[in-house]
Amino acid sequence: MRSLSLVWRKLVTVIAVCAFVLPVITANAAEKTVRWKLAMTWGTNLPPFTDAPKQMAEMVEKMSGGKFLIRIDSSNKHKSPFGVLDMVKLGQYDMAHSASYYWKGKDIALLSLTTMPFGMTTNEQYSWFYYGGGMELMQKAYEKHKVLSFPGGNTGAQMGGWFAKEINTLDDLKGLKMRIPGFAGEVMAKLGLTVTNIAVGELYMSLERGTIDALEWVGPGMDIAMGFHKIAPYYYTGWHEPATELQFLVNKRKFDKLSDKNKEILTVAMKLSAYDMYIQNYHMSSEAWAKIKTDYPNIKVRTFPAEIMKAMREANEELLAEKTAKSPMLKEILDSQKAYMQKARSWTQISDFAYLKDNL
Ligand code: CA
Repeated sequence: MRSLSLVWRKLVTVIAVCAFVLPVITANAAEKTVRWKLAMTWGTNLPPFTDAPKQMAEMVEKMSGGKFLIRIDSSNKHKSPFGVLDMVKLGQYDMAHSASYYWKGKDIALLSLTTMPFGMTTNEQYSWFYYGGGMELMQKAYEKHKVLSFPGGNTGAQMGGWFAKEINTLDDLKGLKMRIPGFAGEVMAKLGLTVTNIAVGELYMSLERGTIDALEWVGPGMDIAMGFHKIAPYYYTGWHEPATELQFLVNKRKFDKLSDKNKEILTVAMKLSAYDMYIQNYHMSSEAWAKIKTDYPNIKVRTFPAEIMKAMREANEELLAEKTAKSPMLKEILDSQKAYMQKARSWTQISDFAYLKDNL
C-alpha cells in the first residue's frame, strides 16, 4: 500500500513537471536574449553617477534571468559626452545616462526637467514627476526627439561652487569665467560672468590652468575627491540646483519593440536605481562633510551676500519671462512646476522645515 502511494506521488510529480515547469523552461530558453548598449555622459568611474546605470543594468539582467543584457559605455569609449541624446535618437545607442539640462542648446524646453534655480527640492520634485504630472510633461517635451526620458538619479541640493577669491559684491563676480551649466549659467551670464560648460574629465585642469576662475560641480561627496579646494578654497552654498535629476534616455522605437515583461523590468530598474543614487549621494556628502573641518581646514564655506542673491533672483525672473515667451513647451513645464511647488512648499514648510528649524 505504502509503495503504491509512493509510486502515485512520483507520478504526480512527473505530471506536474511536464505540465507546468517544462513549458516555462522551454519558453525561457526560446526567448531571444536582448542586448542593448547604454552611453554615459560620464567617464568610467564617477560614483554615484556611474553607479546608477550600472545598478540598473545588473537589476535588468537578474530580473530577466539573463535574457536582457545592457552594456555600458563611458565617454572614454564613445568620446562624445554631450552627444548622447543624438546617439540615442539615431539608434547608435539604445539608451543613455545624462542630464536633461545639457540639451538646452538643442531645445530650451528640455532644460527645465533637471532642476531650476530657486526651484523645487528633491522631495517636491519627485512628487511632481510621479504624482503631479511631471512624467507626462517630460514625455511630451521629448516626443519630437523620438526618445523616452526617465528620472536617472538625484543629487539633492548642490553647492554653489568653488571660487579662488571671496565674493562680497556684484563687482567681484564681473568678468569671472565660470563653469556652470543649465539655467543657472544663464543667470550668472546676466550678472557679468563668462559662462561655459566643460565635461567632468577636464574640470580640474581647466581650473588649474586658469581657463576658468570658478566652477560648480555637485556637493562635497563628489567635489572633494576632485581636488577643487586646492585651487579655489571658497565653497559657496547653493541656490542654483536644488534638486538635480539625472536622466535615462531610451530610444522610443527600441523600447516599443521590447516584450511587455522587459518593458516592465527596465522601467522598474530605472526607477529604483535613480532613487538609490539619491540616497547614495546623500550618504557620500554626509561622510565628506563630517570630515571637512579636520581633513580640509583650508576650505572656507560661504553663502552669497543678500545683494547677490537678490540680483540672481531678478535675473532669473527676467530670463524666465524671455525664454517662456519663445517656447510654449517650456512655459507649460515651468507653469506646472511653479503651481506644484506652491502647494508642496506649504507642506515642506510645516513638516521638514519646521522640524529642522527647531532641531539643528
Ligand atoms: Ca552642478
